[in-house]
Amino acid sequence: MRFFVPTDIYVEKDCVKNHAQNLLSVGMRALIMTGHKSAAANGSLNDVTEVLDAGKAMYRVFNEVEENPSTDTLRKAVQAAREFKADFIIGIGGGSAIDAAKAVALLLLNPQLDADDLHQAPSRRLGHAPVVAVPTTCGTGSETTPVAIITNHKIGLKKSIPHVIFPALALVDGKYLASASKQLIVNTAVDALSHMVESVLNVKSNAFNRMFPEYGLKLWGECKDALLTNGDVDASLYEKLMLTSTIAGMSIAHTSTSLPHGMSYDLTLHEGVPHGPAVGFFLAAYTEVCAKFVPDDVEKVFSLLGVKDIGEFTAMLQSLIGTYSVTRKMRDKFAAAMKVNRSKLDLVPGKITAEDIDFIYEKSLAIRP
Ligand code: NAP
Ligand code: FE
Repeated sequence: MRFFVPTDIYVEKDCVKNHAQNLLSVGMRALIMTGHKSAAANGSLNDVTEVLDAGKAMYRVFNEVEENPSTDTLRKAVQAAREFKADFIIGIGGGSAIDAAKAVALLLLNPQLDADDLHQAPSRRLGHAPVVAVPTTCGTGSETTPVAIITNHKIGLKKSIPHVIFPALALVDGKYLASASKQLIVNTAVDALSHMVESVLNVKSNAFNRMFPEYGLKLWGECKDALLTNGDVDASLYEKLMLTSTIAGMSIAHTSTSLPHGMSYDLTLHEGVPHGPAVGFFLAAYTEVCAKFVPDDVEKVFSLLGVKDIGEFTAMLQSLIGTYSVTRKMRDKFAAAMKVNRSKLDLVPGKITAEDIDFIYEKSLAIRP
């Protein structure tokens, strides 16, 4: 058994301000990477630049990270980092900005690598510049994972890159959720839920890494009524939602994600479905299949969440994210690709068959003409 999360993690209100010295000690010249608008709108960018200004650290803002960041954007960002002579990267935003920051931190120290090469396995472990992560969604937990999910449109691939890039510092403050729509909170909370379920129902699940999802699923269960009820989520839950997402990140930092995540990438790449629902559509059927292999673990997940059985779990997910349909041709193509995706299939805690995979697709995606 092994436990390893080397990120210095703080979760609290006014976290960036409170830990100004931790932030300033990471480097002196930061490339700050954000999405187009949200970091400027929700105060997170301002909190970070105030600390850098007060500490006389230099920075440049790159605010062009799109949802599901592409290798083309990374190439532009690393050029900006080099021109500015950045010595560290700060990612502020959802998983897209933080994942992009991780990948740019790697590219910055490895000029021999082009962004389009990032998905190829390296012959040796590569170094990276330090990364600071300030999350503003309650879903990916990227601030505590070693993973970056990058899209290469030239080869039609959305996948994690095979490099280990833990942020040096994670500053997690629930107040940034105040600007998020209810649907964004729900979508990203479903991602966090999936991380924990996929971490428990996983061949790598063990006593060490179970501490995270077993506590996080309980916290998620305490938020579920607020997510399911019409109307805005009360501000008093923001910190709990963020903490849950960070804990869920620590879960998958040890186990990786499994089939629902592997299945989601095609749906996002080819249909533009946001990450949380794209994963969530597959979660109930995956859980149902795992009940054949690890019934006690499935029961444990349900009891921590406070749901009765697979029927109630499926209904809860449908009420949060709805349902989705694709053409039969597309569904068959996605299923065929998943049947040979060993990196995800090998994480299932039992001998999954081609019929099981067809079952998950059939249950999870309706057919549209
Ligand atoms: P996202 O793609 O980072 O952001 C989605 C949208 O939310 C963007 O339009 C963004 O706007 C907006 N937004 C972000 N924070 C906001 C806030 N506080 N208020 C209002 N709007 C806000 O969404 P995400 O679900 O967090 O990240 C998804 C990506 O992370 C996917 O690529 C997924 O594959 C990846 N992921 C990574 C890991 C990992 O371990 N590394 C795990 C799971 C998923 P702006 O563009 O204006 O910022
Ligand atoms: Fe995810």
